[in-house]
Amino acid sequence: MTRHIAPTQTRPARLAPLAKLPIFFNLADKDTLIVGGSEGVAWKAELLAACGARVKVVASEHCHELLALAGEHPDAITLVAREWSEDDLHGVAMALGDIEEEDEATRFAEAARRIVGHVNVIDKPAFCDYQFGAIVNRSPVVIGISTDGGAPILGQAIRRRVEAVLPTRLGPWTQAAKDFRDRLKTLVPSKAGRRRFWERFVDVTFISQAEEDDRLAKLERLAAGIGAEEEGGARIGEVVIVGAGPGDPELVTLKAMREMQAADVVVYDRLVTGDVLELARREARRIHVGKKGHGDSCRQEDICALIVSLAREGQRVVRLKGGDPAIFGRTGEEVEACKAAGIPVRIVPGVTTASAAAAALDVSLTDRKAAQRVQFVTGHDKEGKLPENLDLTALSDPRATTVVYMGRRTAARLATTMLERGLPADTPAIVMTNVSLREQTATPSTLQGLVEGDAFGRDAAPTLVLIGAALAGAQVRAQTRVEALAAAL
Ligand code: SAH
Repeated sequence: MTRHIAPTQTRPARLAPLAKLPIFFNLADKDTLIVGGSEGVAWKAELLAACGARVKVVASEHCHELLALAGEHPDAITLVAREWSEDDLHGVAMALGDIEEEDEATRFAEAARRIVGHVNVIDKPAFCDYQFGAIVNRSPVVIGISTDGGAPILGQAIRRRVEAVLPTRLGPWTQAAKDFRDRLKTLVPSKAGRRRFWERFVDVTFISQAEEDDRLAKLERLAAGIGAEEEGGARIGEVVIVGAGPGDPELVTLKAMREMQAADVVVYDRLVTGDVLELARREARRIHVGKKGHGDSCRQEDICALIVSLAREGQRVVRLKGGDPAIFGRTGEEVEACKAAGIPVRIVPGVTTASAAAAALDVSLTDRKAAQRVQFVTGHDKEGKLPENLDLTALSDPRATTVVYMGRRTAARLATTMLERGLPADTPAIVMTNVSLREQTATPSTLQGLVEGDAFGRDAAPTLVLIGAALAGAQVRAQTRVEALAAAL
């Protein structure tokens, strides 16, 4: 009799229903059988051979692909030109068929299930005890993707996306890990220490871009470092200042994403959107240090002190900033604070808002005829006023594109100054809010329009002002093709 464990209220459901169980089948040195001679069979034969299996392909006729493949892998793939029989099924670990004719497929499937235990007949779901999904191959890391036959093309798209976020050298690093496991036990005897080692190993695999021949030596050093920490009792973290882009999570760089995935704690600004934060490691602590305009905010000194103290506790701190950290992000102060405290610090660049704005407007910020210079200026100083020491000659250059950050309140004053300095009143200007987000707006105007303040909404949405002749051809695109498609559904 089957015993059922009664569900209790205190134990949450751990696993939602699974359409299929993913398992990783060891086929090394096993005999397998495929019945059929098509190109589809050739692909399956190559797959099984790549897993180290011996593959017998039985068919009255074999296609060119199969003939070529058997020529390339004479030890692994054997072609047998005749009808299949039940004898072929004895002693094989896996039996596949590509059999159109219904009665014949039924006969094969029944025999395979009886003798081998399971079967897969291509394109005949009734005779598929398992399915082959899309594969990401970074052996020894293997990822299988199944849509349970729902949408194979979606499976392939998922595969491409997974491929894109995985470090290129994941395979060799994982192999090195396999080779190092025993040695680690002698170098780091404590279980907790070894756990720390593996966490750092993950960081190394995700961050290391170098072509390395000495992976084992590197693991050895990593383990020695942990061993020394165990004795000394101290460990130090680091700070990575990461550009989150203007808001659209697709504009986050792969490098930024890897850093977020390796974070213990994410310290983020107001301009970092929820969708971008989603990309951070689920277990990472999130600390908001949002600065709203000037004044009522976490003071910069406090933010510097916070990241330094978190790193001192041994945490890996990702300091996430909107756009590119090197542009109006007070990154310099944070780098300095870390250096002064002896904390390792790195910067990962991001897409600055001006770049995303230009993309949304279908324009280039530089232009061989209209703009030889592009300048990013800030619209407010420490007190929130238009800075007094702006370079007015540069600002009134008719062959420059000027992008004003933090200029919502001061743009009219700035435009007045530019007009007074001789820039034509009809110089194109565009006021954009929520660049790259669904709520993005773009209001075309002119320098004169800015003076009159007509292009500014009342809300406090992040606002970017672009000014210059290069913007004459700007097209305010409502939606991307994919967005339009999604909206039409
Ligand atoms: N480091 C950021 C800029 C930080 S200063 C970058 O490279 O983009 C903050 C200012 O950037 C805001 O006041 C606003 O002018 C601009 N900004 C940032 N994100 C924005 C967005 N999504 N849309 C419009 N302006 C934005």
